[in-house]
Amino acid sequence: MRLLDIIIAKRDGKELSREQIQHFVREYASGGAPDYQAAALLMAAFLNGMTTAEQGALVQAMTDSGERYDHSALGRIPVDKHSTGGVGDKVSLLLAPIVASAGVPVPMISGRGLGHTGGTLDKLEAIPGFDTRLSREQFSELLARVGVAMAGQSERFVPADRKLYALRDVTGTVESIPLIASSIMSKKIAEGAKGLVLDVKTGSGAFMQNDEDALQLARTLVETGEAAGVRTVAWLTDMSQPLGRAIGNANETAEAIAGLRGDGPPDLMKVTETLCAEMLVLGEAAPDIETARQIIQKQIASGAALDKFREMVEAQGGDPRVADNPSLLTIAPQTMEIAAPRKGWIAGFDCREIGFAACVLGAGRETKEDSVDPSVGIEALKRIGDSIEAGEPLFRVFWRKQDRMEACRRRLESCVQIANEPCSPPELIRRRISHQED
Ligand code: URA
Repeated sequence: MRLLDIIIAKRDGKELSREQIQHFVREYASGGAPDYQAAALLMAAFLNGMTTAEQGALVQAMTDSGERYDHSALGRIPVDKHSTGGVGDKVSLLLAPIVASAGVPVPMISGRGLGHTGGTLDKLEAIPGFDTRLSREQFSELLARVGVAMAGQSERFVPADRKLYALRDVTGTVESIPLIASSIMSKKIAEGAKGLVLDVKTGSGAFMQNDEDALQLARTLVETGEAAGVRTVAWLTDMSQPLGRAIGNANETAEAIAGLRGDGPPDLMKVTETLCAEMLVLGEAAPDIETARQIIQKQIASGAALDKFREMVEAQGGDPRVADNPSLLTIAPQTMEIAAPRKGWIAGFDCREIGFAACVLGAGRETKEDSVDPSVGIEALKRIGDSIEAGEPLFRVFWRKQDRMEACRRRLESCVQIANEPCSPPELIRRRISHQED
């Protein structure tokens, strides 16, 4: 079977067989297919879409590209959460220790920054020493001992997603429902989660820019999870503005720690609580959502969630003192503010541009070989619906390199809409999608 024939078939709009998809994925994951051929196939799939059968075959091939984890020896239900990607979305950093502290094991395989969105692995690695490259044995041992393990794809674990994810990031092939669904669900099925909560983002900072597309993605994810024996629930949440104030890596980790102390921004805490509550119910640590919410508030107020974060950081080689002293996270020393050009009300943001502004600063990658600078980032000082005076700061930028700061400034200056009349904030938590829905 020639790789070129598979690319040509997809380019010409033909449906690929299960065998063709398996062959291509196996070859690429094992180094037998070059990046340029994989990039061509990704673009053909992006432009022509994929049938349900093709997408099912892709999830299967990616899941089978490496080891699969099994946590049945724990005697508890392992539950994970995944976001489809957003700007300022640091929810996983708070959520994993909160849920683990309440007795539900969290086996979390995350990603790096993708397109304009940030990645959990990059944020965790802002903690000095934190190691996200765990072997199967280390991952299982941490899950049993600490109750939570946070790692990335590797040469042995979903290697197909590891390579395709990095390639999509730099080839303009991210915003595709079948490619996103296969990427997320291959990791979640292979990691051994038995319950899964998905945060499907909608709005200008999401890969799905409207509720209709987000709903289609959510349904695809839920059906794929359920078909693989993972009880799956999704929530549509707003991403038309950054979640919380911090956008970057070290600054987002600091904001997540503030959240664990009960001092996080309200929108971040609301999304976190909604998703955690679903996880506690799926993990049978709470009989219903209301009880789950009470448990979450207690875990934060008592310090148990922060204790679990500290324990997790230490167990993964990081400096546990960051939990009590977030100033150990390096934030770039130079700052610059972007001021409002006129008086009015914040009507909206081009939130994708804010994500790209953080990327050009050095918080994300432009080529596969780039490394991120964890110290740079942006603080969003205003939210949709806020009033603003001319000259009042909209954003504060923490930067290291002058040319990057200038590129960031140009993007931020054009990403805010200011209205003459008061505007209403968008609805943050939109809709729940489950297998049982009508
Ligand atoms: N998260 C993933 O893991 N993959 C995607 O493609 C998008 C978000």
